[in-house]
Amino acid sequence: MVHVLVTGKIAQEGLDILQEFGRVTVVENPSEEDIAPILPTVDAVLHKIGKLPRELLLRGPGIQIIARHGVGLDDLDLEYLKEKGIKLTITEDANSHAVAEFTVTLMLVLNRRLFEAHEKLIKQGFWQREQLIGQELQGQVLGLIGFGRIGKRVALLAQNLGMKIMVHDPFLKEVPPGATLVGLDELLTGSDIISIHCPLTSETKNLLNTERLGLLKPTAYLVNTARGGIIDEKALFTMLKEKRLAGAALDVFSVEPPSLSSELQTLSNLIVTPHISAMTHSAQRNMAIMAAREIKKFFLGG
Ligand code: NAD
Repeated sequence: MVHVLVTGKIAQEGLDILQEFGRVTVVENPSEEDIAPILPTVDAVLHKIGKLPRELLLRGPGIQIIARHGVGLDDLDLEYLKEKGIKLTITEDANSHAVAEFTVTLMLVLNRRLFEAHEKLIKQGFWQREQLIGQELQGQVLGLIGFGRIGKRVALLAQNLGMKIMVHDPFLKEVPPGATLVGLDELLTGSDIISIHCPLTSETKNLLNTERLGLLKPTAYLVNTARGGIIDEKALFTMLKEKRLAGAALDVFSVEPPSLSSELQTLSNLIVTPHISAMTHSAQRNMAIMAAREIKKFFLGG
């Protein structure tokens, strides 16, 4: 019987598919120590959370397929998978809607100063409306770093809100009508809002470092729902403290959960969420079903 390790809590619909043909071990909050003793008998991994470095994967010589619950591959040693011929699948587009909608939500929340207004009213009874004037998205320039499944959906939503779109994606030669393909520096200097939708790789690690962050307009907003590590967080927090940037919304961090200092808690121009862009019921269900079906197809065919 096929033994499937599931890293993280997944939707029941995905577990039902796996249990039709396999023995399933779910580790809801996987640490390397939890997973290591299970791996020697594992044939397949449905991978949702946690890191799977080479040293750990070596403990599971029988692993034939890793089905990623999601699309990010930065937690996996891809070289090792290639060397060993281990099949890798992703749940393409299962969460794109969820992440795109969440990204646009963050753009709106930043521009209308929603959290600041809520905090001030609920804690201080603050009712000085002219001190909470925000901006419409209509007419603003949105700069998208990465124009794959999620970037394209964000562009579509933003265009419907009347935004102009700039794109930086070194792997693209053209973009659809209404968007302009530009170099990274041009995007950073010319955008009113910058949103990141590229993977975390050795090329994109610290892509937005001190120097590049310094190119942003002081009135700009920055949104990251892709991966922590693409932005130099320390440099960003300094800029926010010194008001050299209008604001930022981060759903992802270089280390998760992040340790956010009490100083950051006082900033009214920073919004943080605990990696929940893809946390909708339908996205979670779709990802679990798609990943489980990939494993089933691999072992049973069809
Ligand atoms: P995708 O592969 O469809 O698109 C990624 C795009 O980034 C591609 O077009 C690629 O050419 C581009 N790219 C690669 N290197 C680049 C670089 N150096 N600069 C600019 N662009 C570059 O992926 P997707 O489905 O759109 O997802 C994008 C990323 O979002 C994923 O890699 C993942 O890390 C992240 N993500 C986060 C969540 C979340 O819960 N917060 C959920 C899903 C995806």
